[in-house]
Amino acid sequence: MTLIIISIIATVVWCYVLWGKAYFIENSRNKLRAKPLTTEQLLVLSRTMPLYSRLPKSLQVQLCGHIQVFLAEKQFSAGGELTINDNMRLLIAANACLLLLNRHSNYFTNVKSIVLYPSAYRAKQTSHQHGTVAQVDQIRLGESWPWGTIVLSWSDSLQGSANEEDGHNVILHEFAHQLDQQNGGATGTPKLSDKNSYKHWHGIFSEEYNTLRKKVCAQKRSVIDAYGATNEAEFFAVVTETFFERPLELRQQHPALYETLYQYYQVDPVSWFE
Ligand SMILES: [Zn+2]
Repeated sequence: MTLIIISIIATVVWCYVLWGKAYFIENSRNKLRAKPLTTEQLLVLSRTMPLYSRLPKSLQVQLCGHIQVFLAEKQFSAGGELTINDNMRLLIAANACLLLLNRHSNYFTNVKSIVLYPSAYRAKQTSHQHGTVAQVDQIRLGESWPWGTIVLSWSDSLQGSANEEDGHNVILHEFAHQLDQQNGGATGTPKLSDKNSYKHWHGIFSEEYNTLRKKVCAQKRSVIDAYGATNEAEFFAVVTETFFERPLELRQQHPALYETLYQYYQVDPVSWFE
């Protein structure tokens, strides 16, 4: 009997601690979101992120609030010889937070730090071929690790943000992987609201992924970059870039895929480009 009472009290205290922590986090995020960006920060966004200028005013305000939270909660560090400045942090935060608009957000909860390299960098990749395992050098623009770190090439991040119509944005790509990895592995399916949404998602995404693979094999062109045919996780990251940067063509050529991404991201980039 005593043990039962102790365990009930412990559970109540634990719930109270969790609730208190969540309340504290939300309260401090509300304060950060209410803080406007400076005129200089807004100028940097308008110079280096044309997508920001395309957003309706209400989404610009929302994005600025998310940027403040992101900048307060995430650590940045340099890989290689790069001096990170506030404008770099701002640009990464702004592009990443595009994925959070109009949705309940936990601000990429697993991401603790963002490592910036000056440009594309070398990384070791384990290769399995013909029964042998080898370490090979690979040139990378970015990486997303499920428990803590995003790695980005700064020059490619800047270029991806500066051209908002080419369907290439490594920041959107790597942070889309984070949304996918929230449950642990990268499967190409982020957290959805209910069973039916998963069923609908798998139906559309499997079909579109297989179509892209066939097109790539037949060397046919697609609005979706061929890298998306690598696996389902890359497909989701690549179509996220296409959704935000080539929405008109994506909706015209893949209406069901566009609609599914629209339902997930809760924004309609077509209206930003029309
Ligand atoms: Zn990727």
